[in-house]
Amino acid sequence: MTDAAPALHRLGVVGWPVAHSRSPAMHNAALAALGLPDWHYQRLPVPPELLAETLRALPQQGFVGANVTIPHKEAALAICDEATGTAREIGAANTLTFGADGAITADNTDAPGFLNALPIEPGGRSALVLGAGGSARAVVWALREAGAEVAVWNRTPDRAAALAADLGVRATAAPVTADLLVNCTSVGLAGEALDALPVDADRIAGFAAVVDLVYHGEGTALVAAARAARVPVADGLEVLVQQGALSLSGWTGRDAPLDVMRRAAGA
Ligand code: NAP
Repeated sequence: MTDAAPALHRLGVVGWPVAHSRSPAMHNAALAALGLPDWHYQRLPVPPELLAETLRALPQQGFVGANVTIPHKEAALAICDEATGTAREIGAANTLTFGADGAITADNTDAPGFLNALPIEPGGRSALVLGAGGSARAVVWALREAGAEVAVWNRTPDRAAALAADLGVRATAAPVTADLLVNCTSVGLAGEALDALPVDADRIAGFAAVVDLVYHGEGTALVAAARAARVPVADGLEVLVQQGALSLSGWTGRDAPLDVMRRAAGA
C-alpha cells in the first residue's frame, strides 16, 4: 500500500493583468525556505466580469488563499463573506483566505505591511502623501491609525479632497513640508525623472524619511534622490515584501522569511 500524496495547498495572485507580478517568485521562494513543498503560489489572470465566479471556484480547486491586486481590490471586498475591520475601513482587500466550507474572508495587509516597511516610527509625525488612488487610501488609513498627521496631495485635487474628507485627514493643493514623504502615484513606473513629481530634489533632504510605493528595475528617481541626500528610504519592493509576508504568515501560520522574499522579489 502506498501513502497518498499530501494535498496541494494552492495560493495565487488574482489580477488583470497580472503577468508582471513578482508575488509568485517571492512566495514560492518563501514556501520552499519554510519547507512546505506541498504549497504552491501562482498567477491568476482574471478579467473583472469573471471575478466573482472565479473566487467562488478557487476553494474547490485546492486554493487556501489568494492575494488580490489591480483592478480587483474593491470588488473582492464586496464578494467576500467576512472581512476584517482593516479591509472594511480601507474599502479594499488584498488578501483572501478560503475556509474548508468555501467561505471567503477578506483582509488588507497593504496597510500594516506599509507600516512595517517604514524607516521611522510615524506616531506624532507629519506625513505628505502624494496620490489619491487605491494605494494612497491604504497608506493614509495606516498613517492616520498610527497617529501621524497626514496631508494628501494629488494631481487631480478633487480626488485628494474626497479621500481626505473620507478618512478624516487634510488635503493640500501644494506639497507641504513634513517628516515623511510617501509616493503613492504611479510616477516612476516608466522610469520618469524626479521632476514628474511635485517635490524638487533639493527639498528631499528636508524629509526625515521617504517611501516610494513604485518599484522599477533600475530603482526610481525618488529613491535615488533620497539615497543621495542620505535620507532613510523604503522602496516599493520592501512594501511589497512586507505586505506579502503578512499574507503568507496568515495562510501558513509561520513567520515569513523576509530576506528570502526580498531576494526573490528583487531578482
Ligand atoms: P491608482 O489607483 O491607479 O492611482 C494612481 C495615482 O497616480 C493617482 O493619484 C493619479 O493621479 C496618480 N498619477 C498618475 N499619473 C500621474 C502623473 N503623471 N503625475 C502625477 N500623478 C499621477 O494606482 P494605485 O493602486 O494607487 O497604485 C499607485 C502606484 O503604487 C502604482 O505604480 C503601483 O505599482 C504602486 N503600488 C505598489 C505597491 C507595492 O506593494 N509596492 C502596492 C500598491 C501599489 P490622478 O488622480 O490625478 O489621476
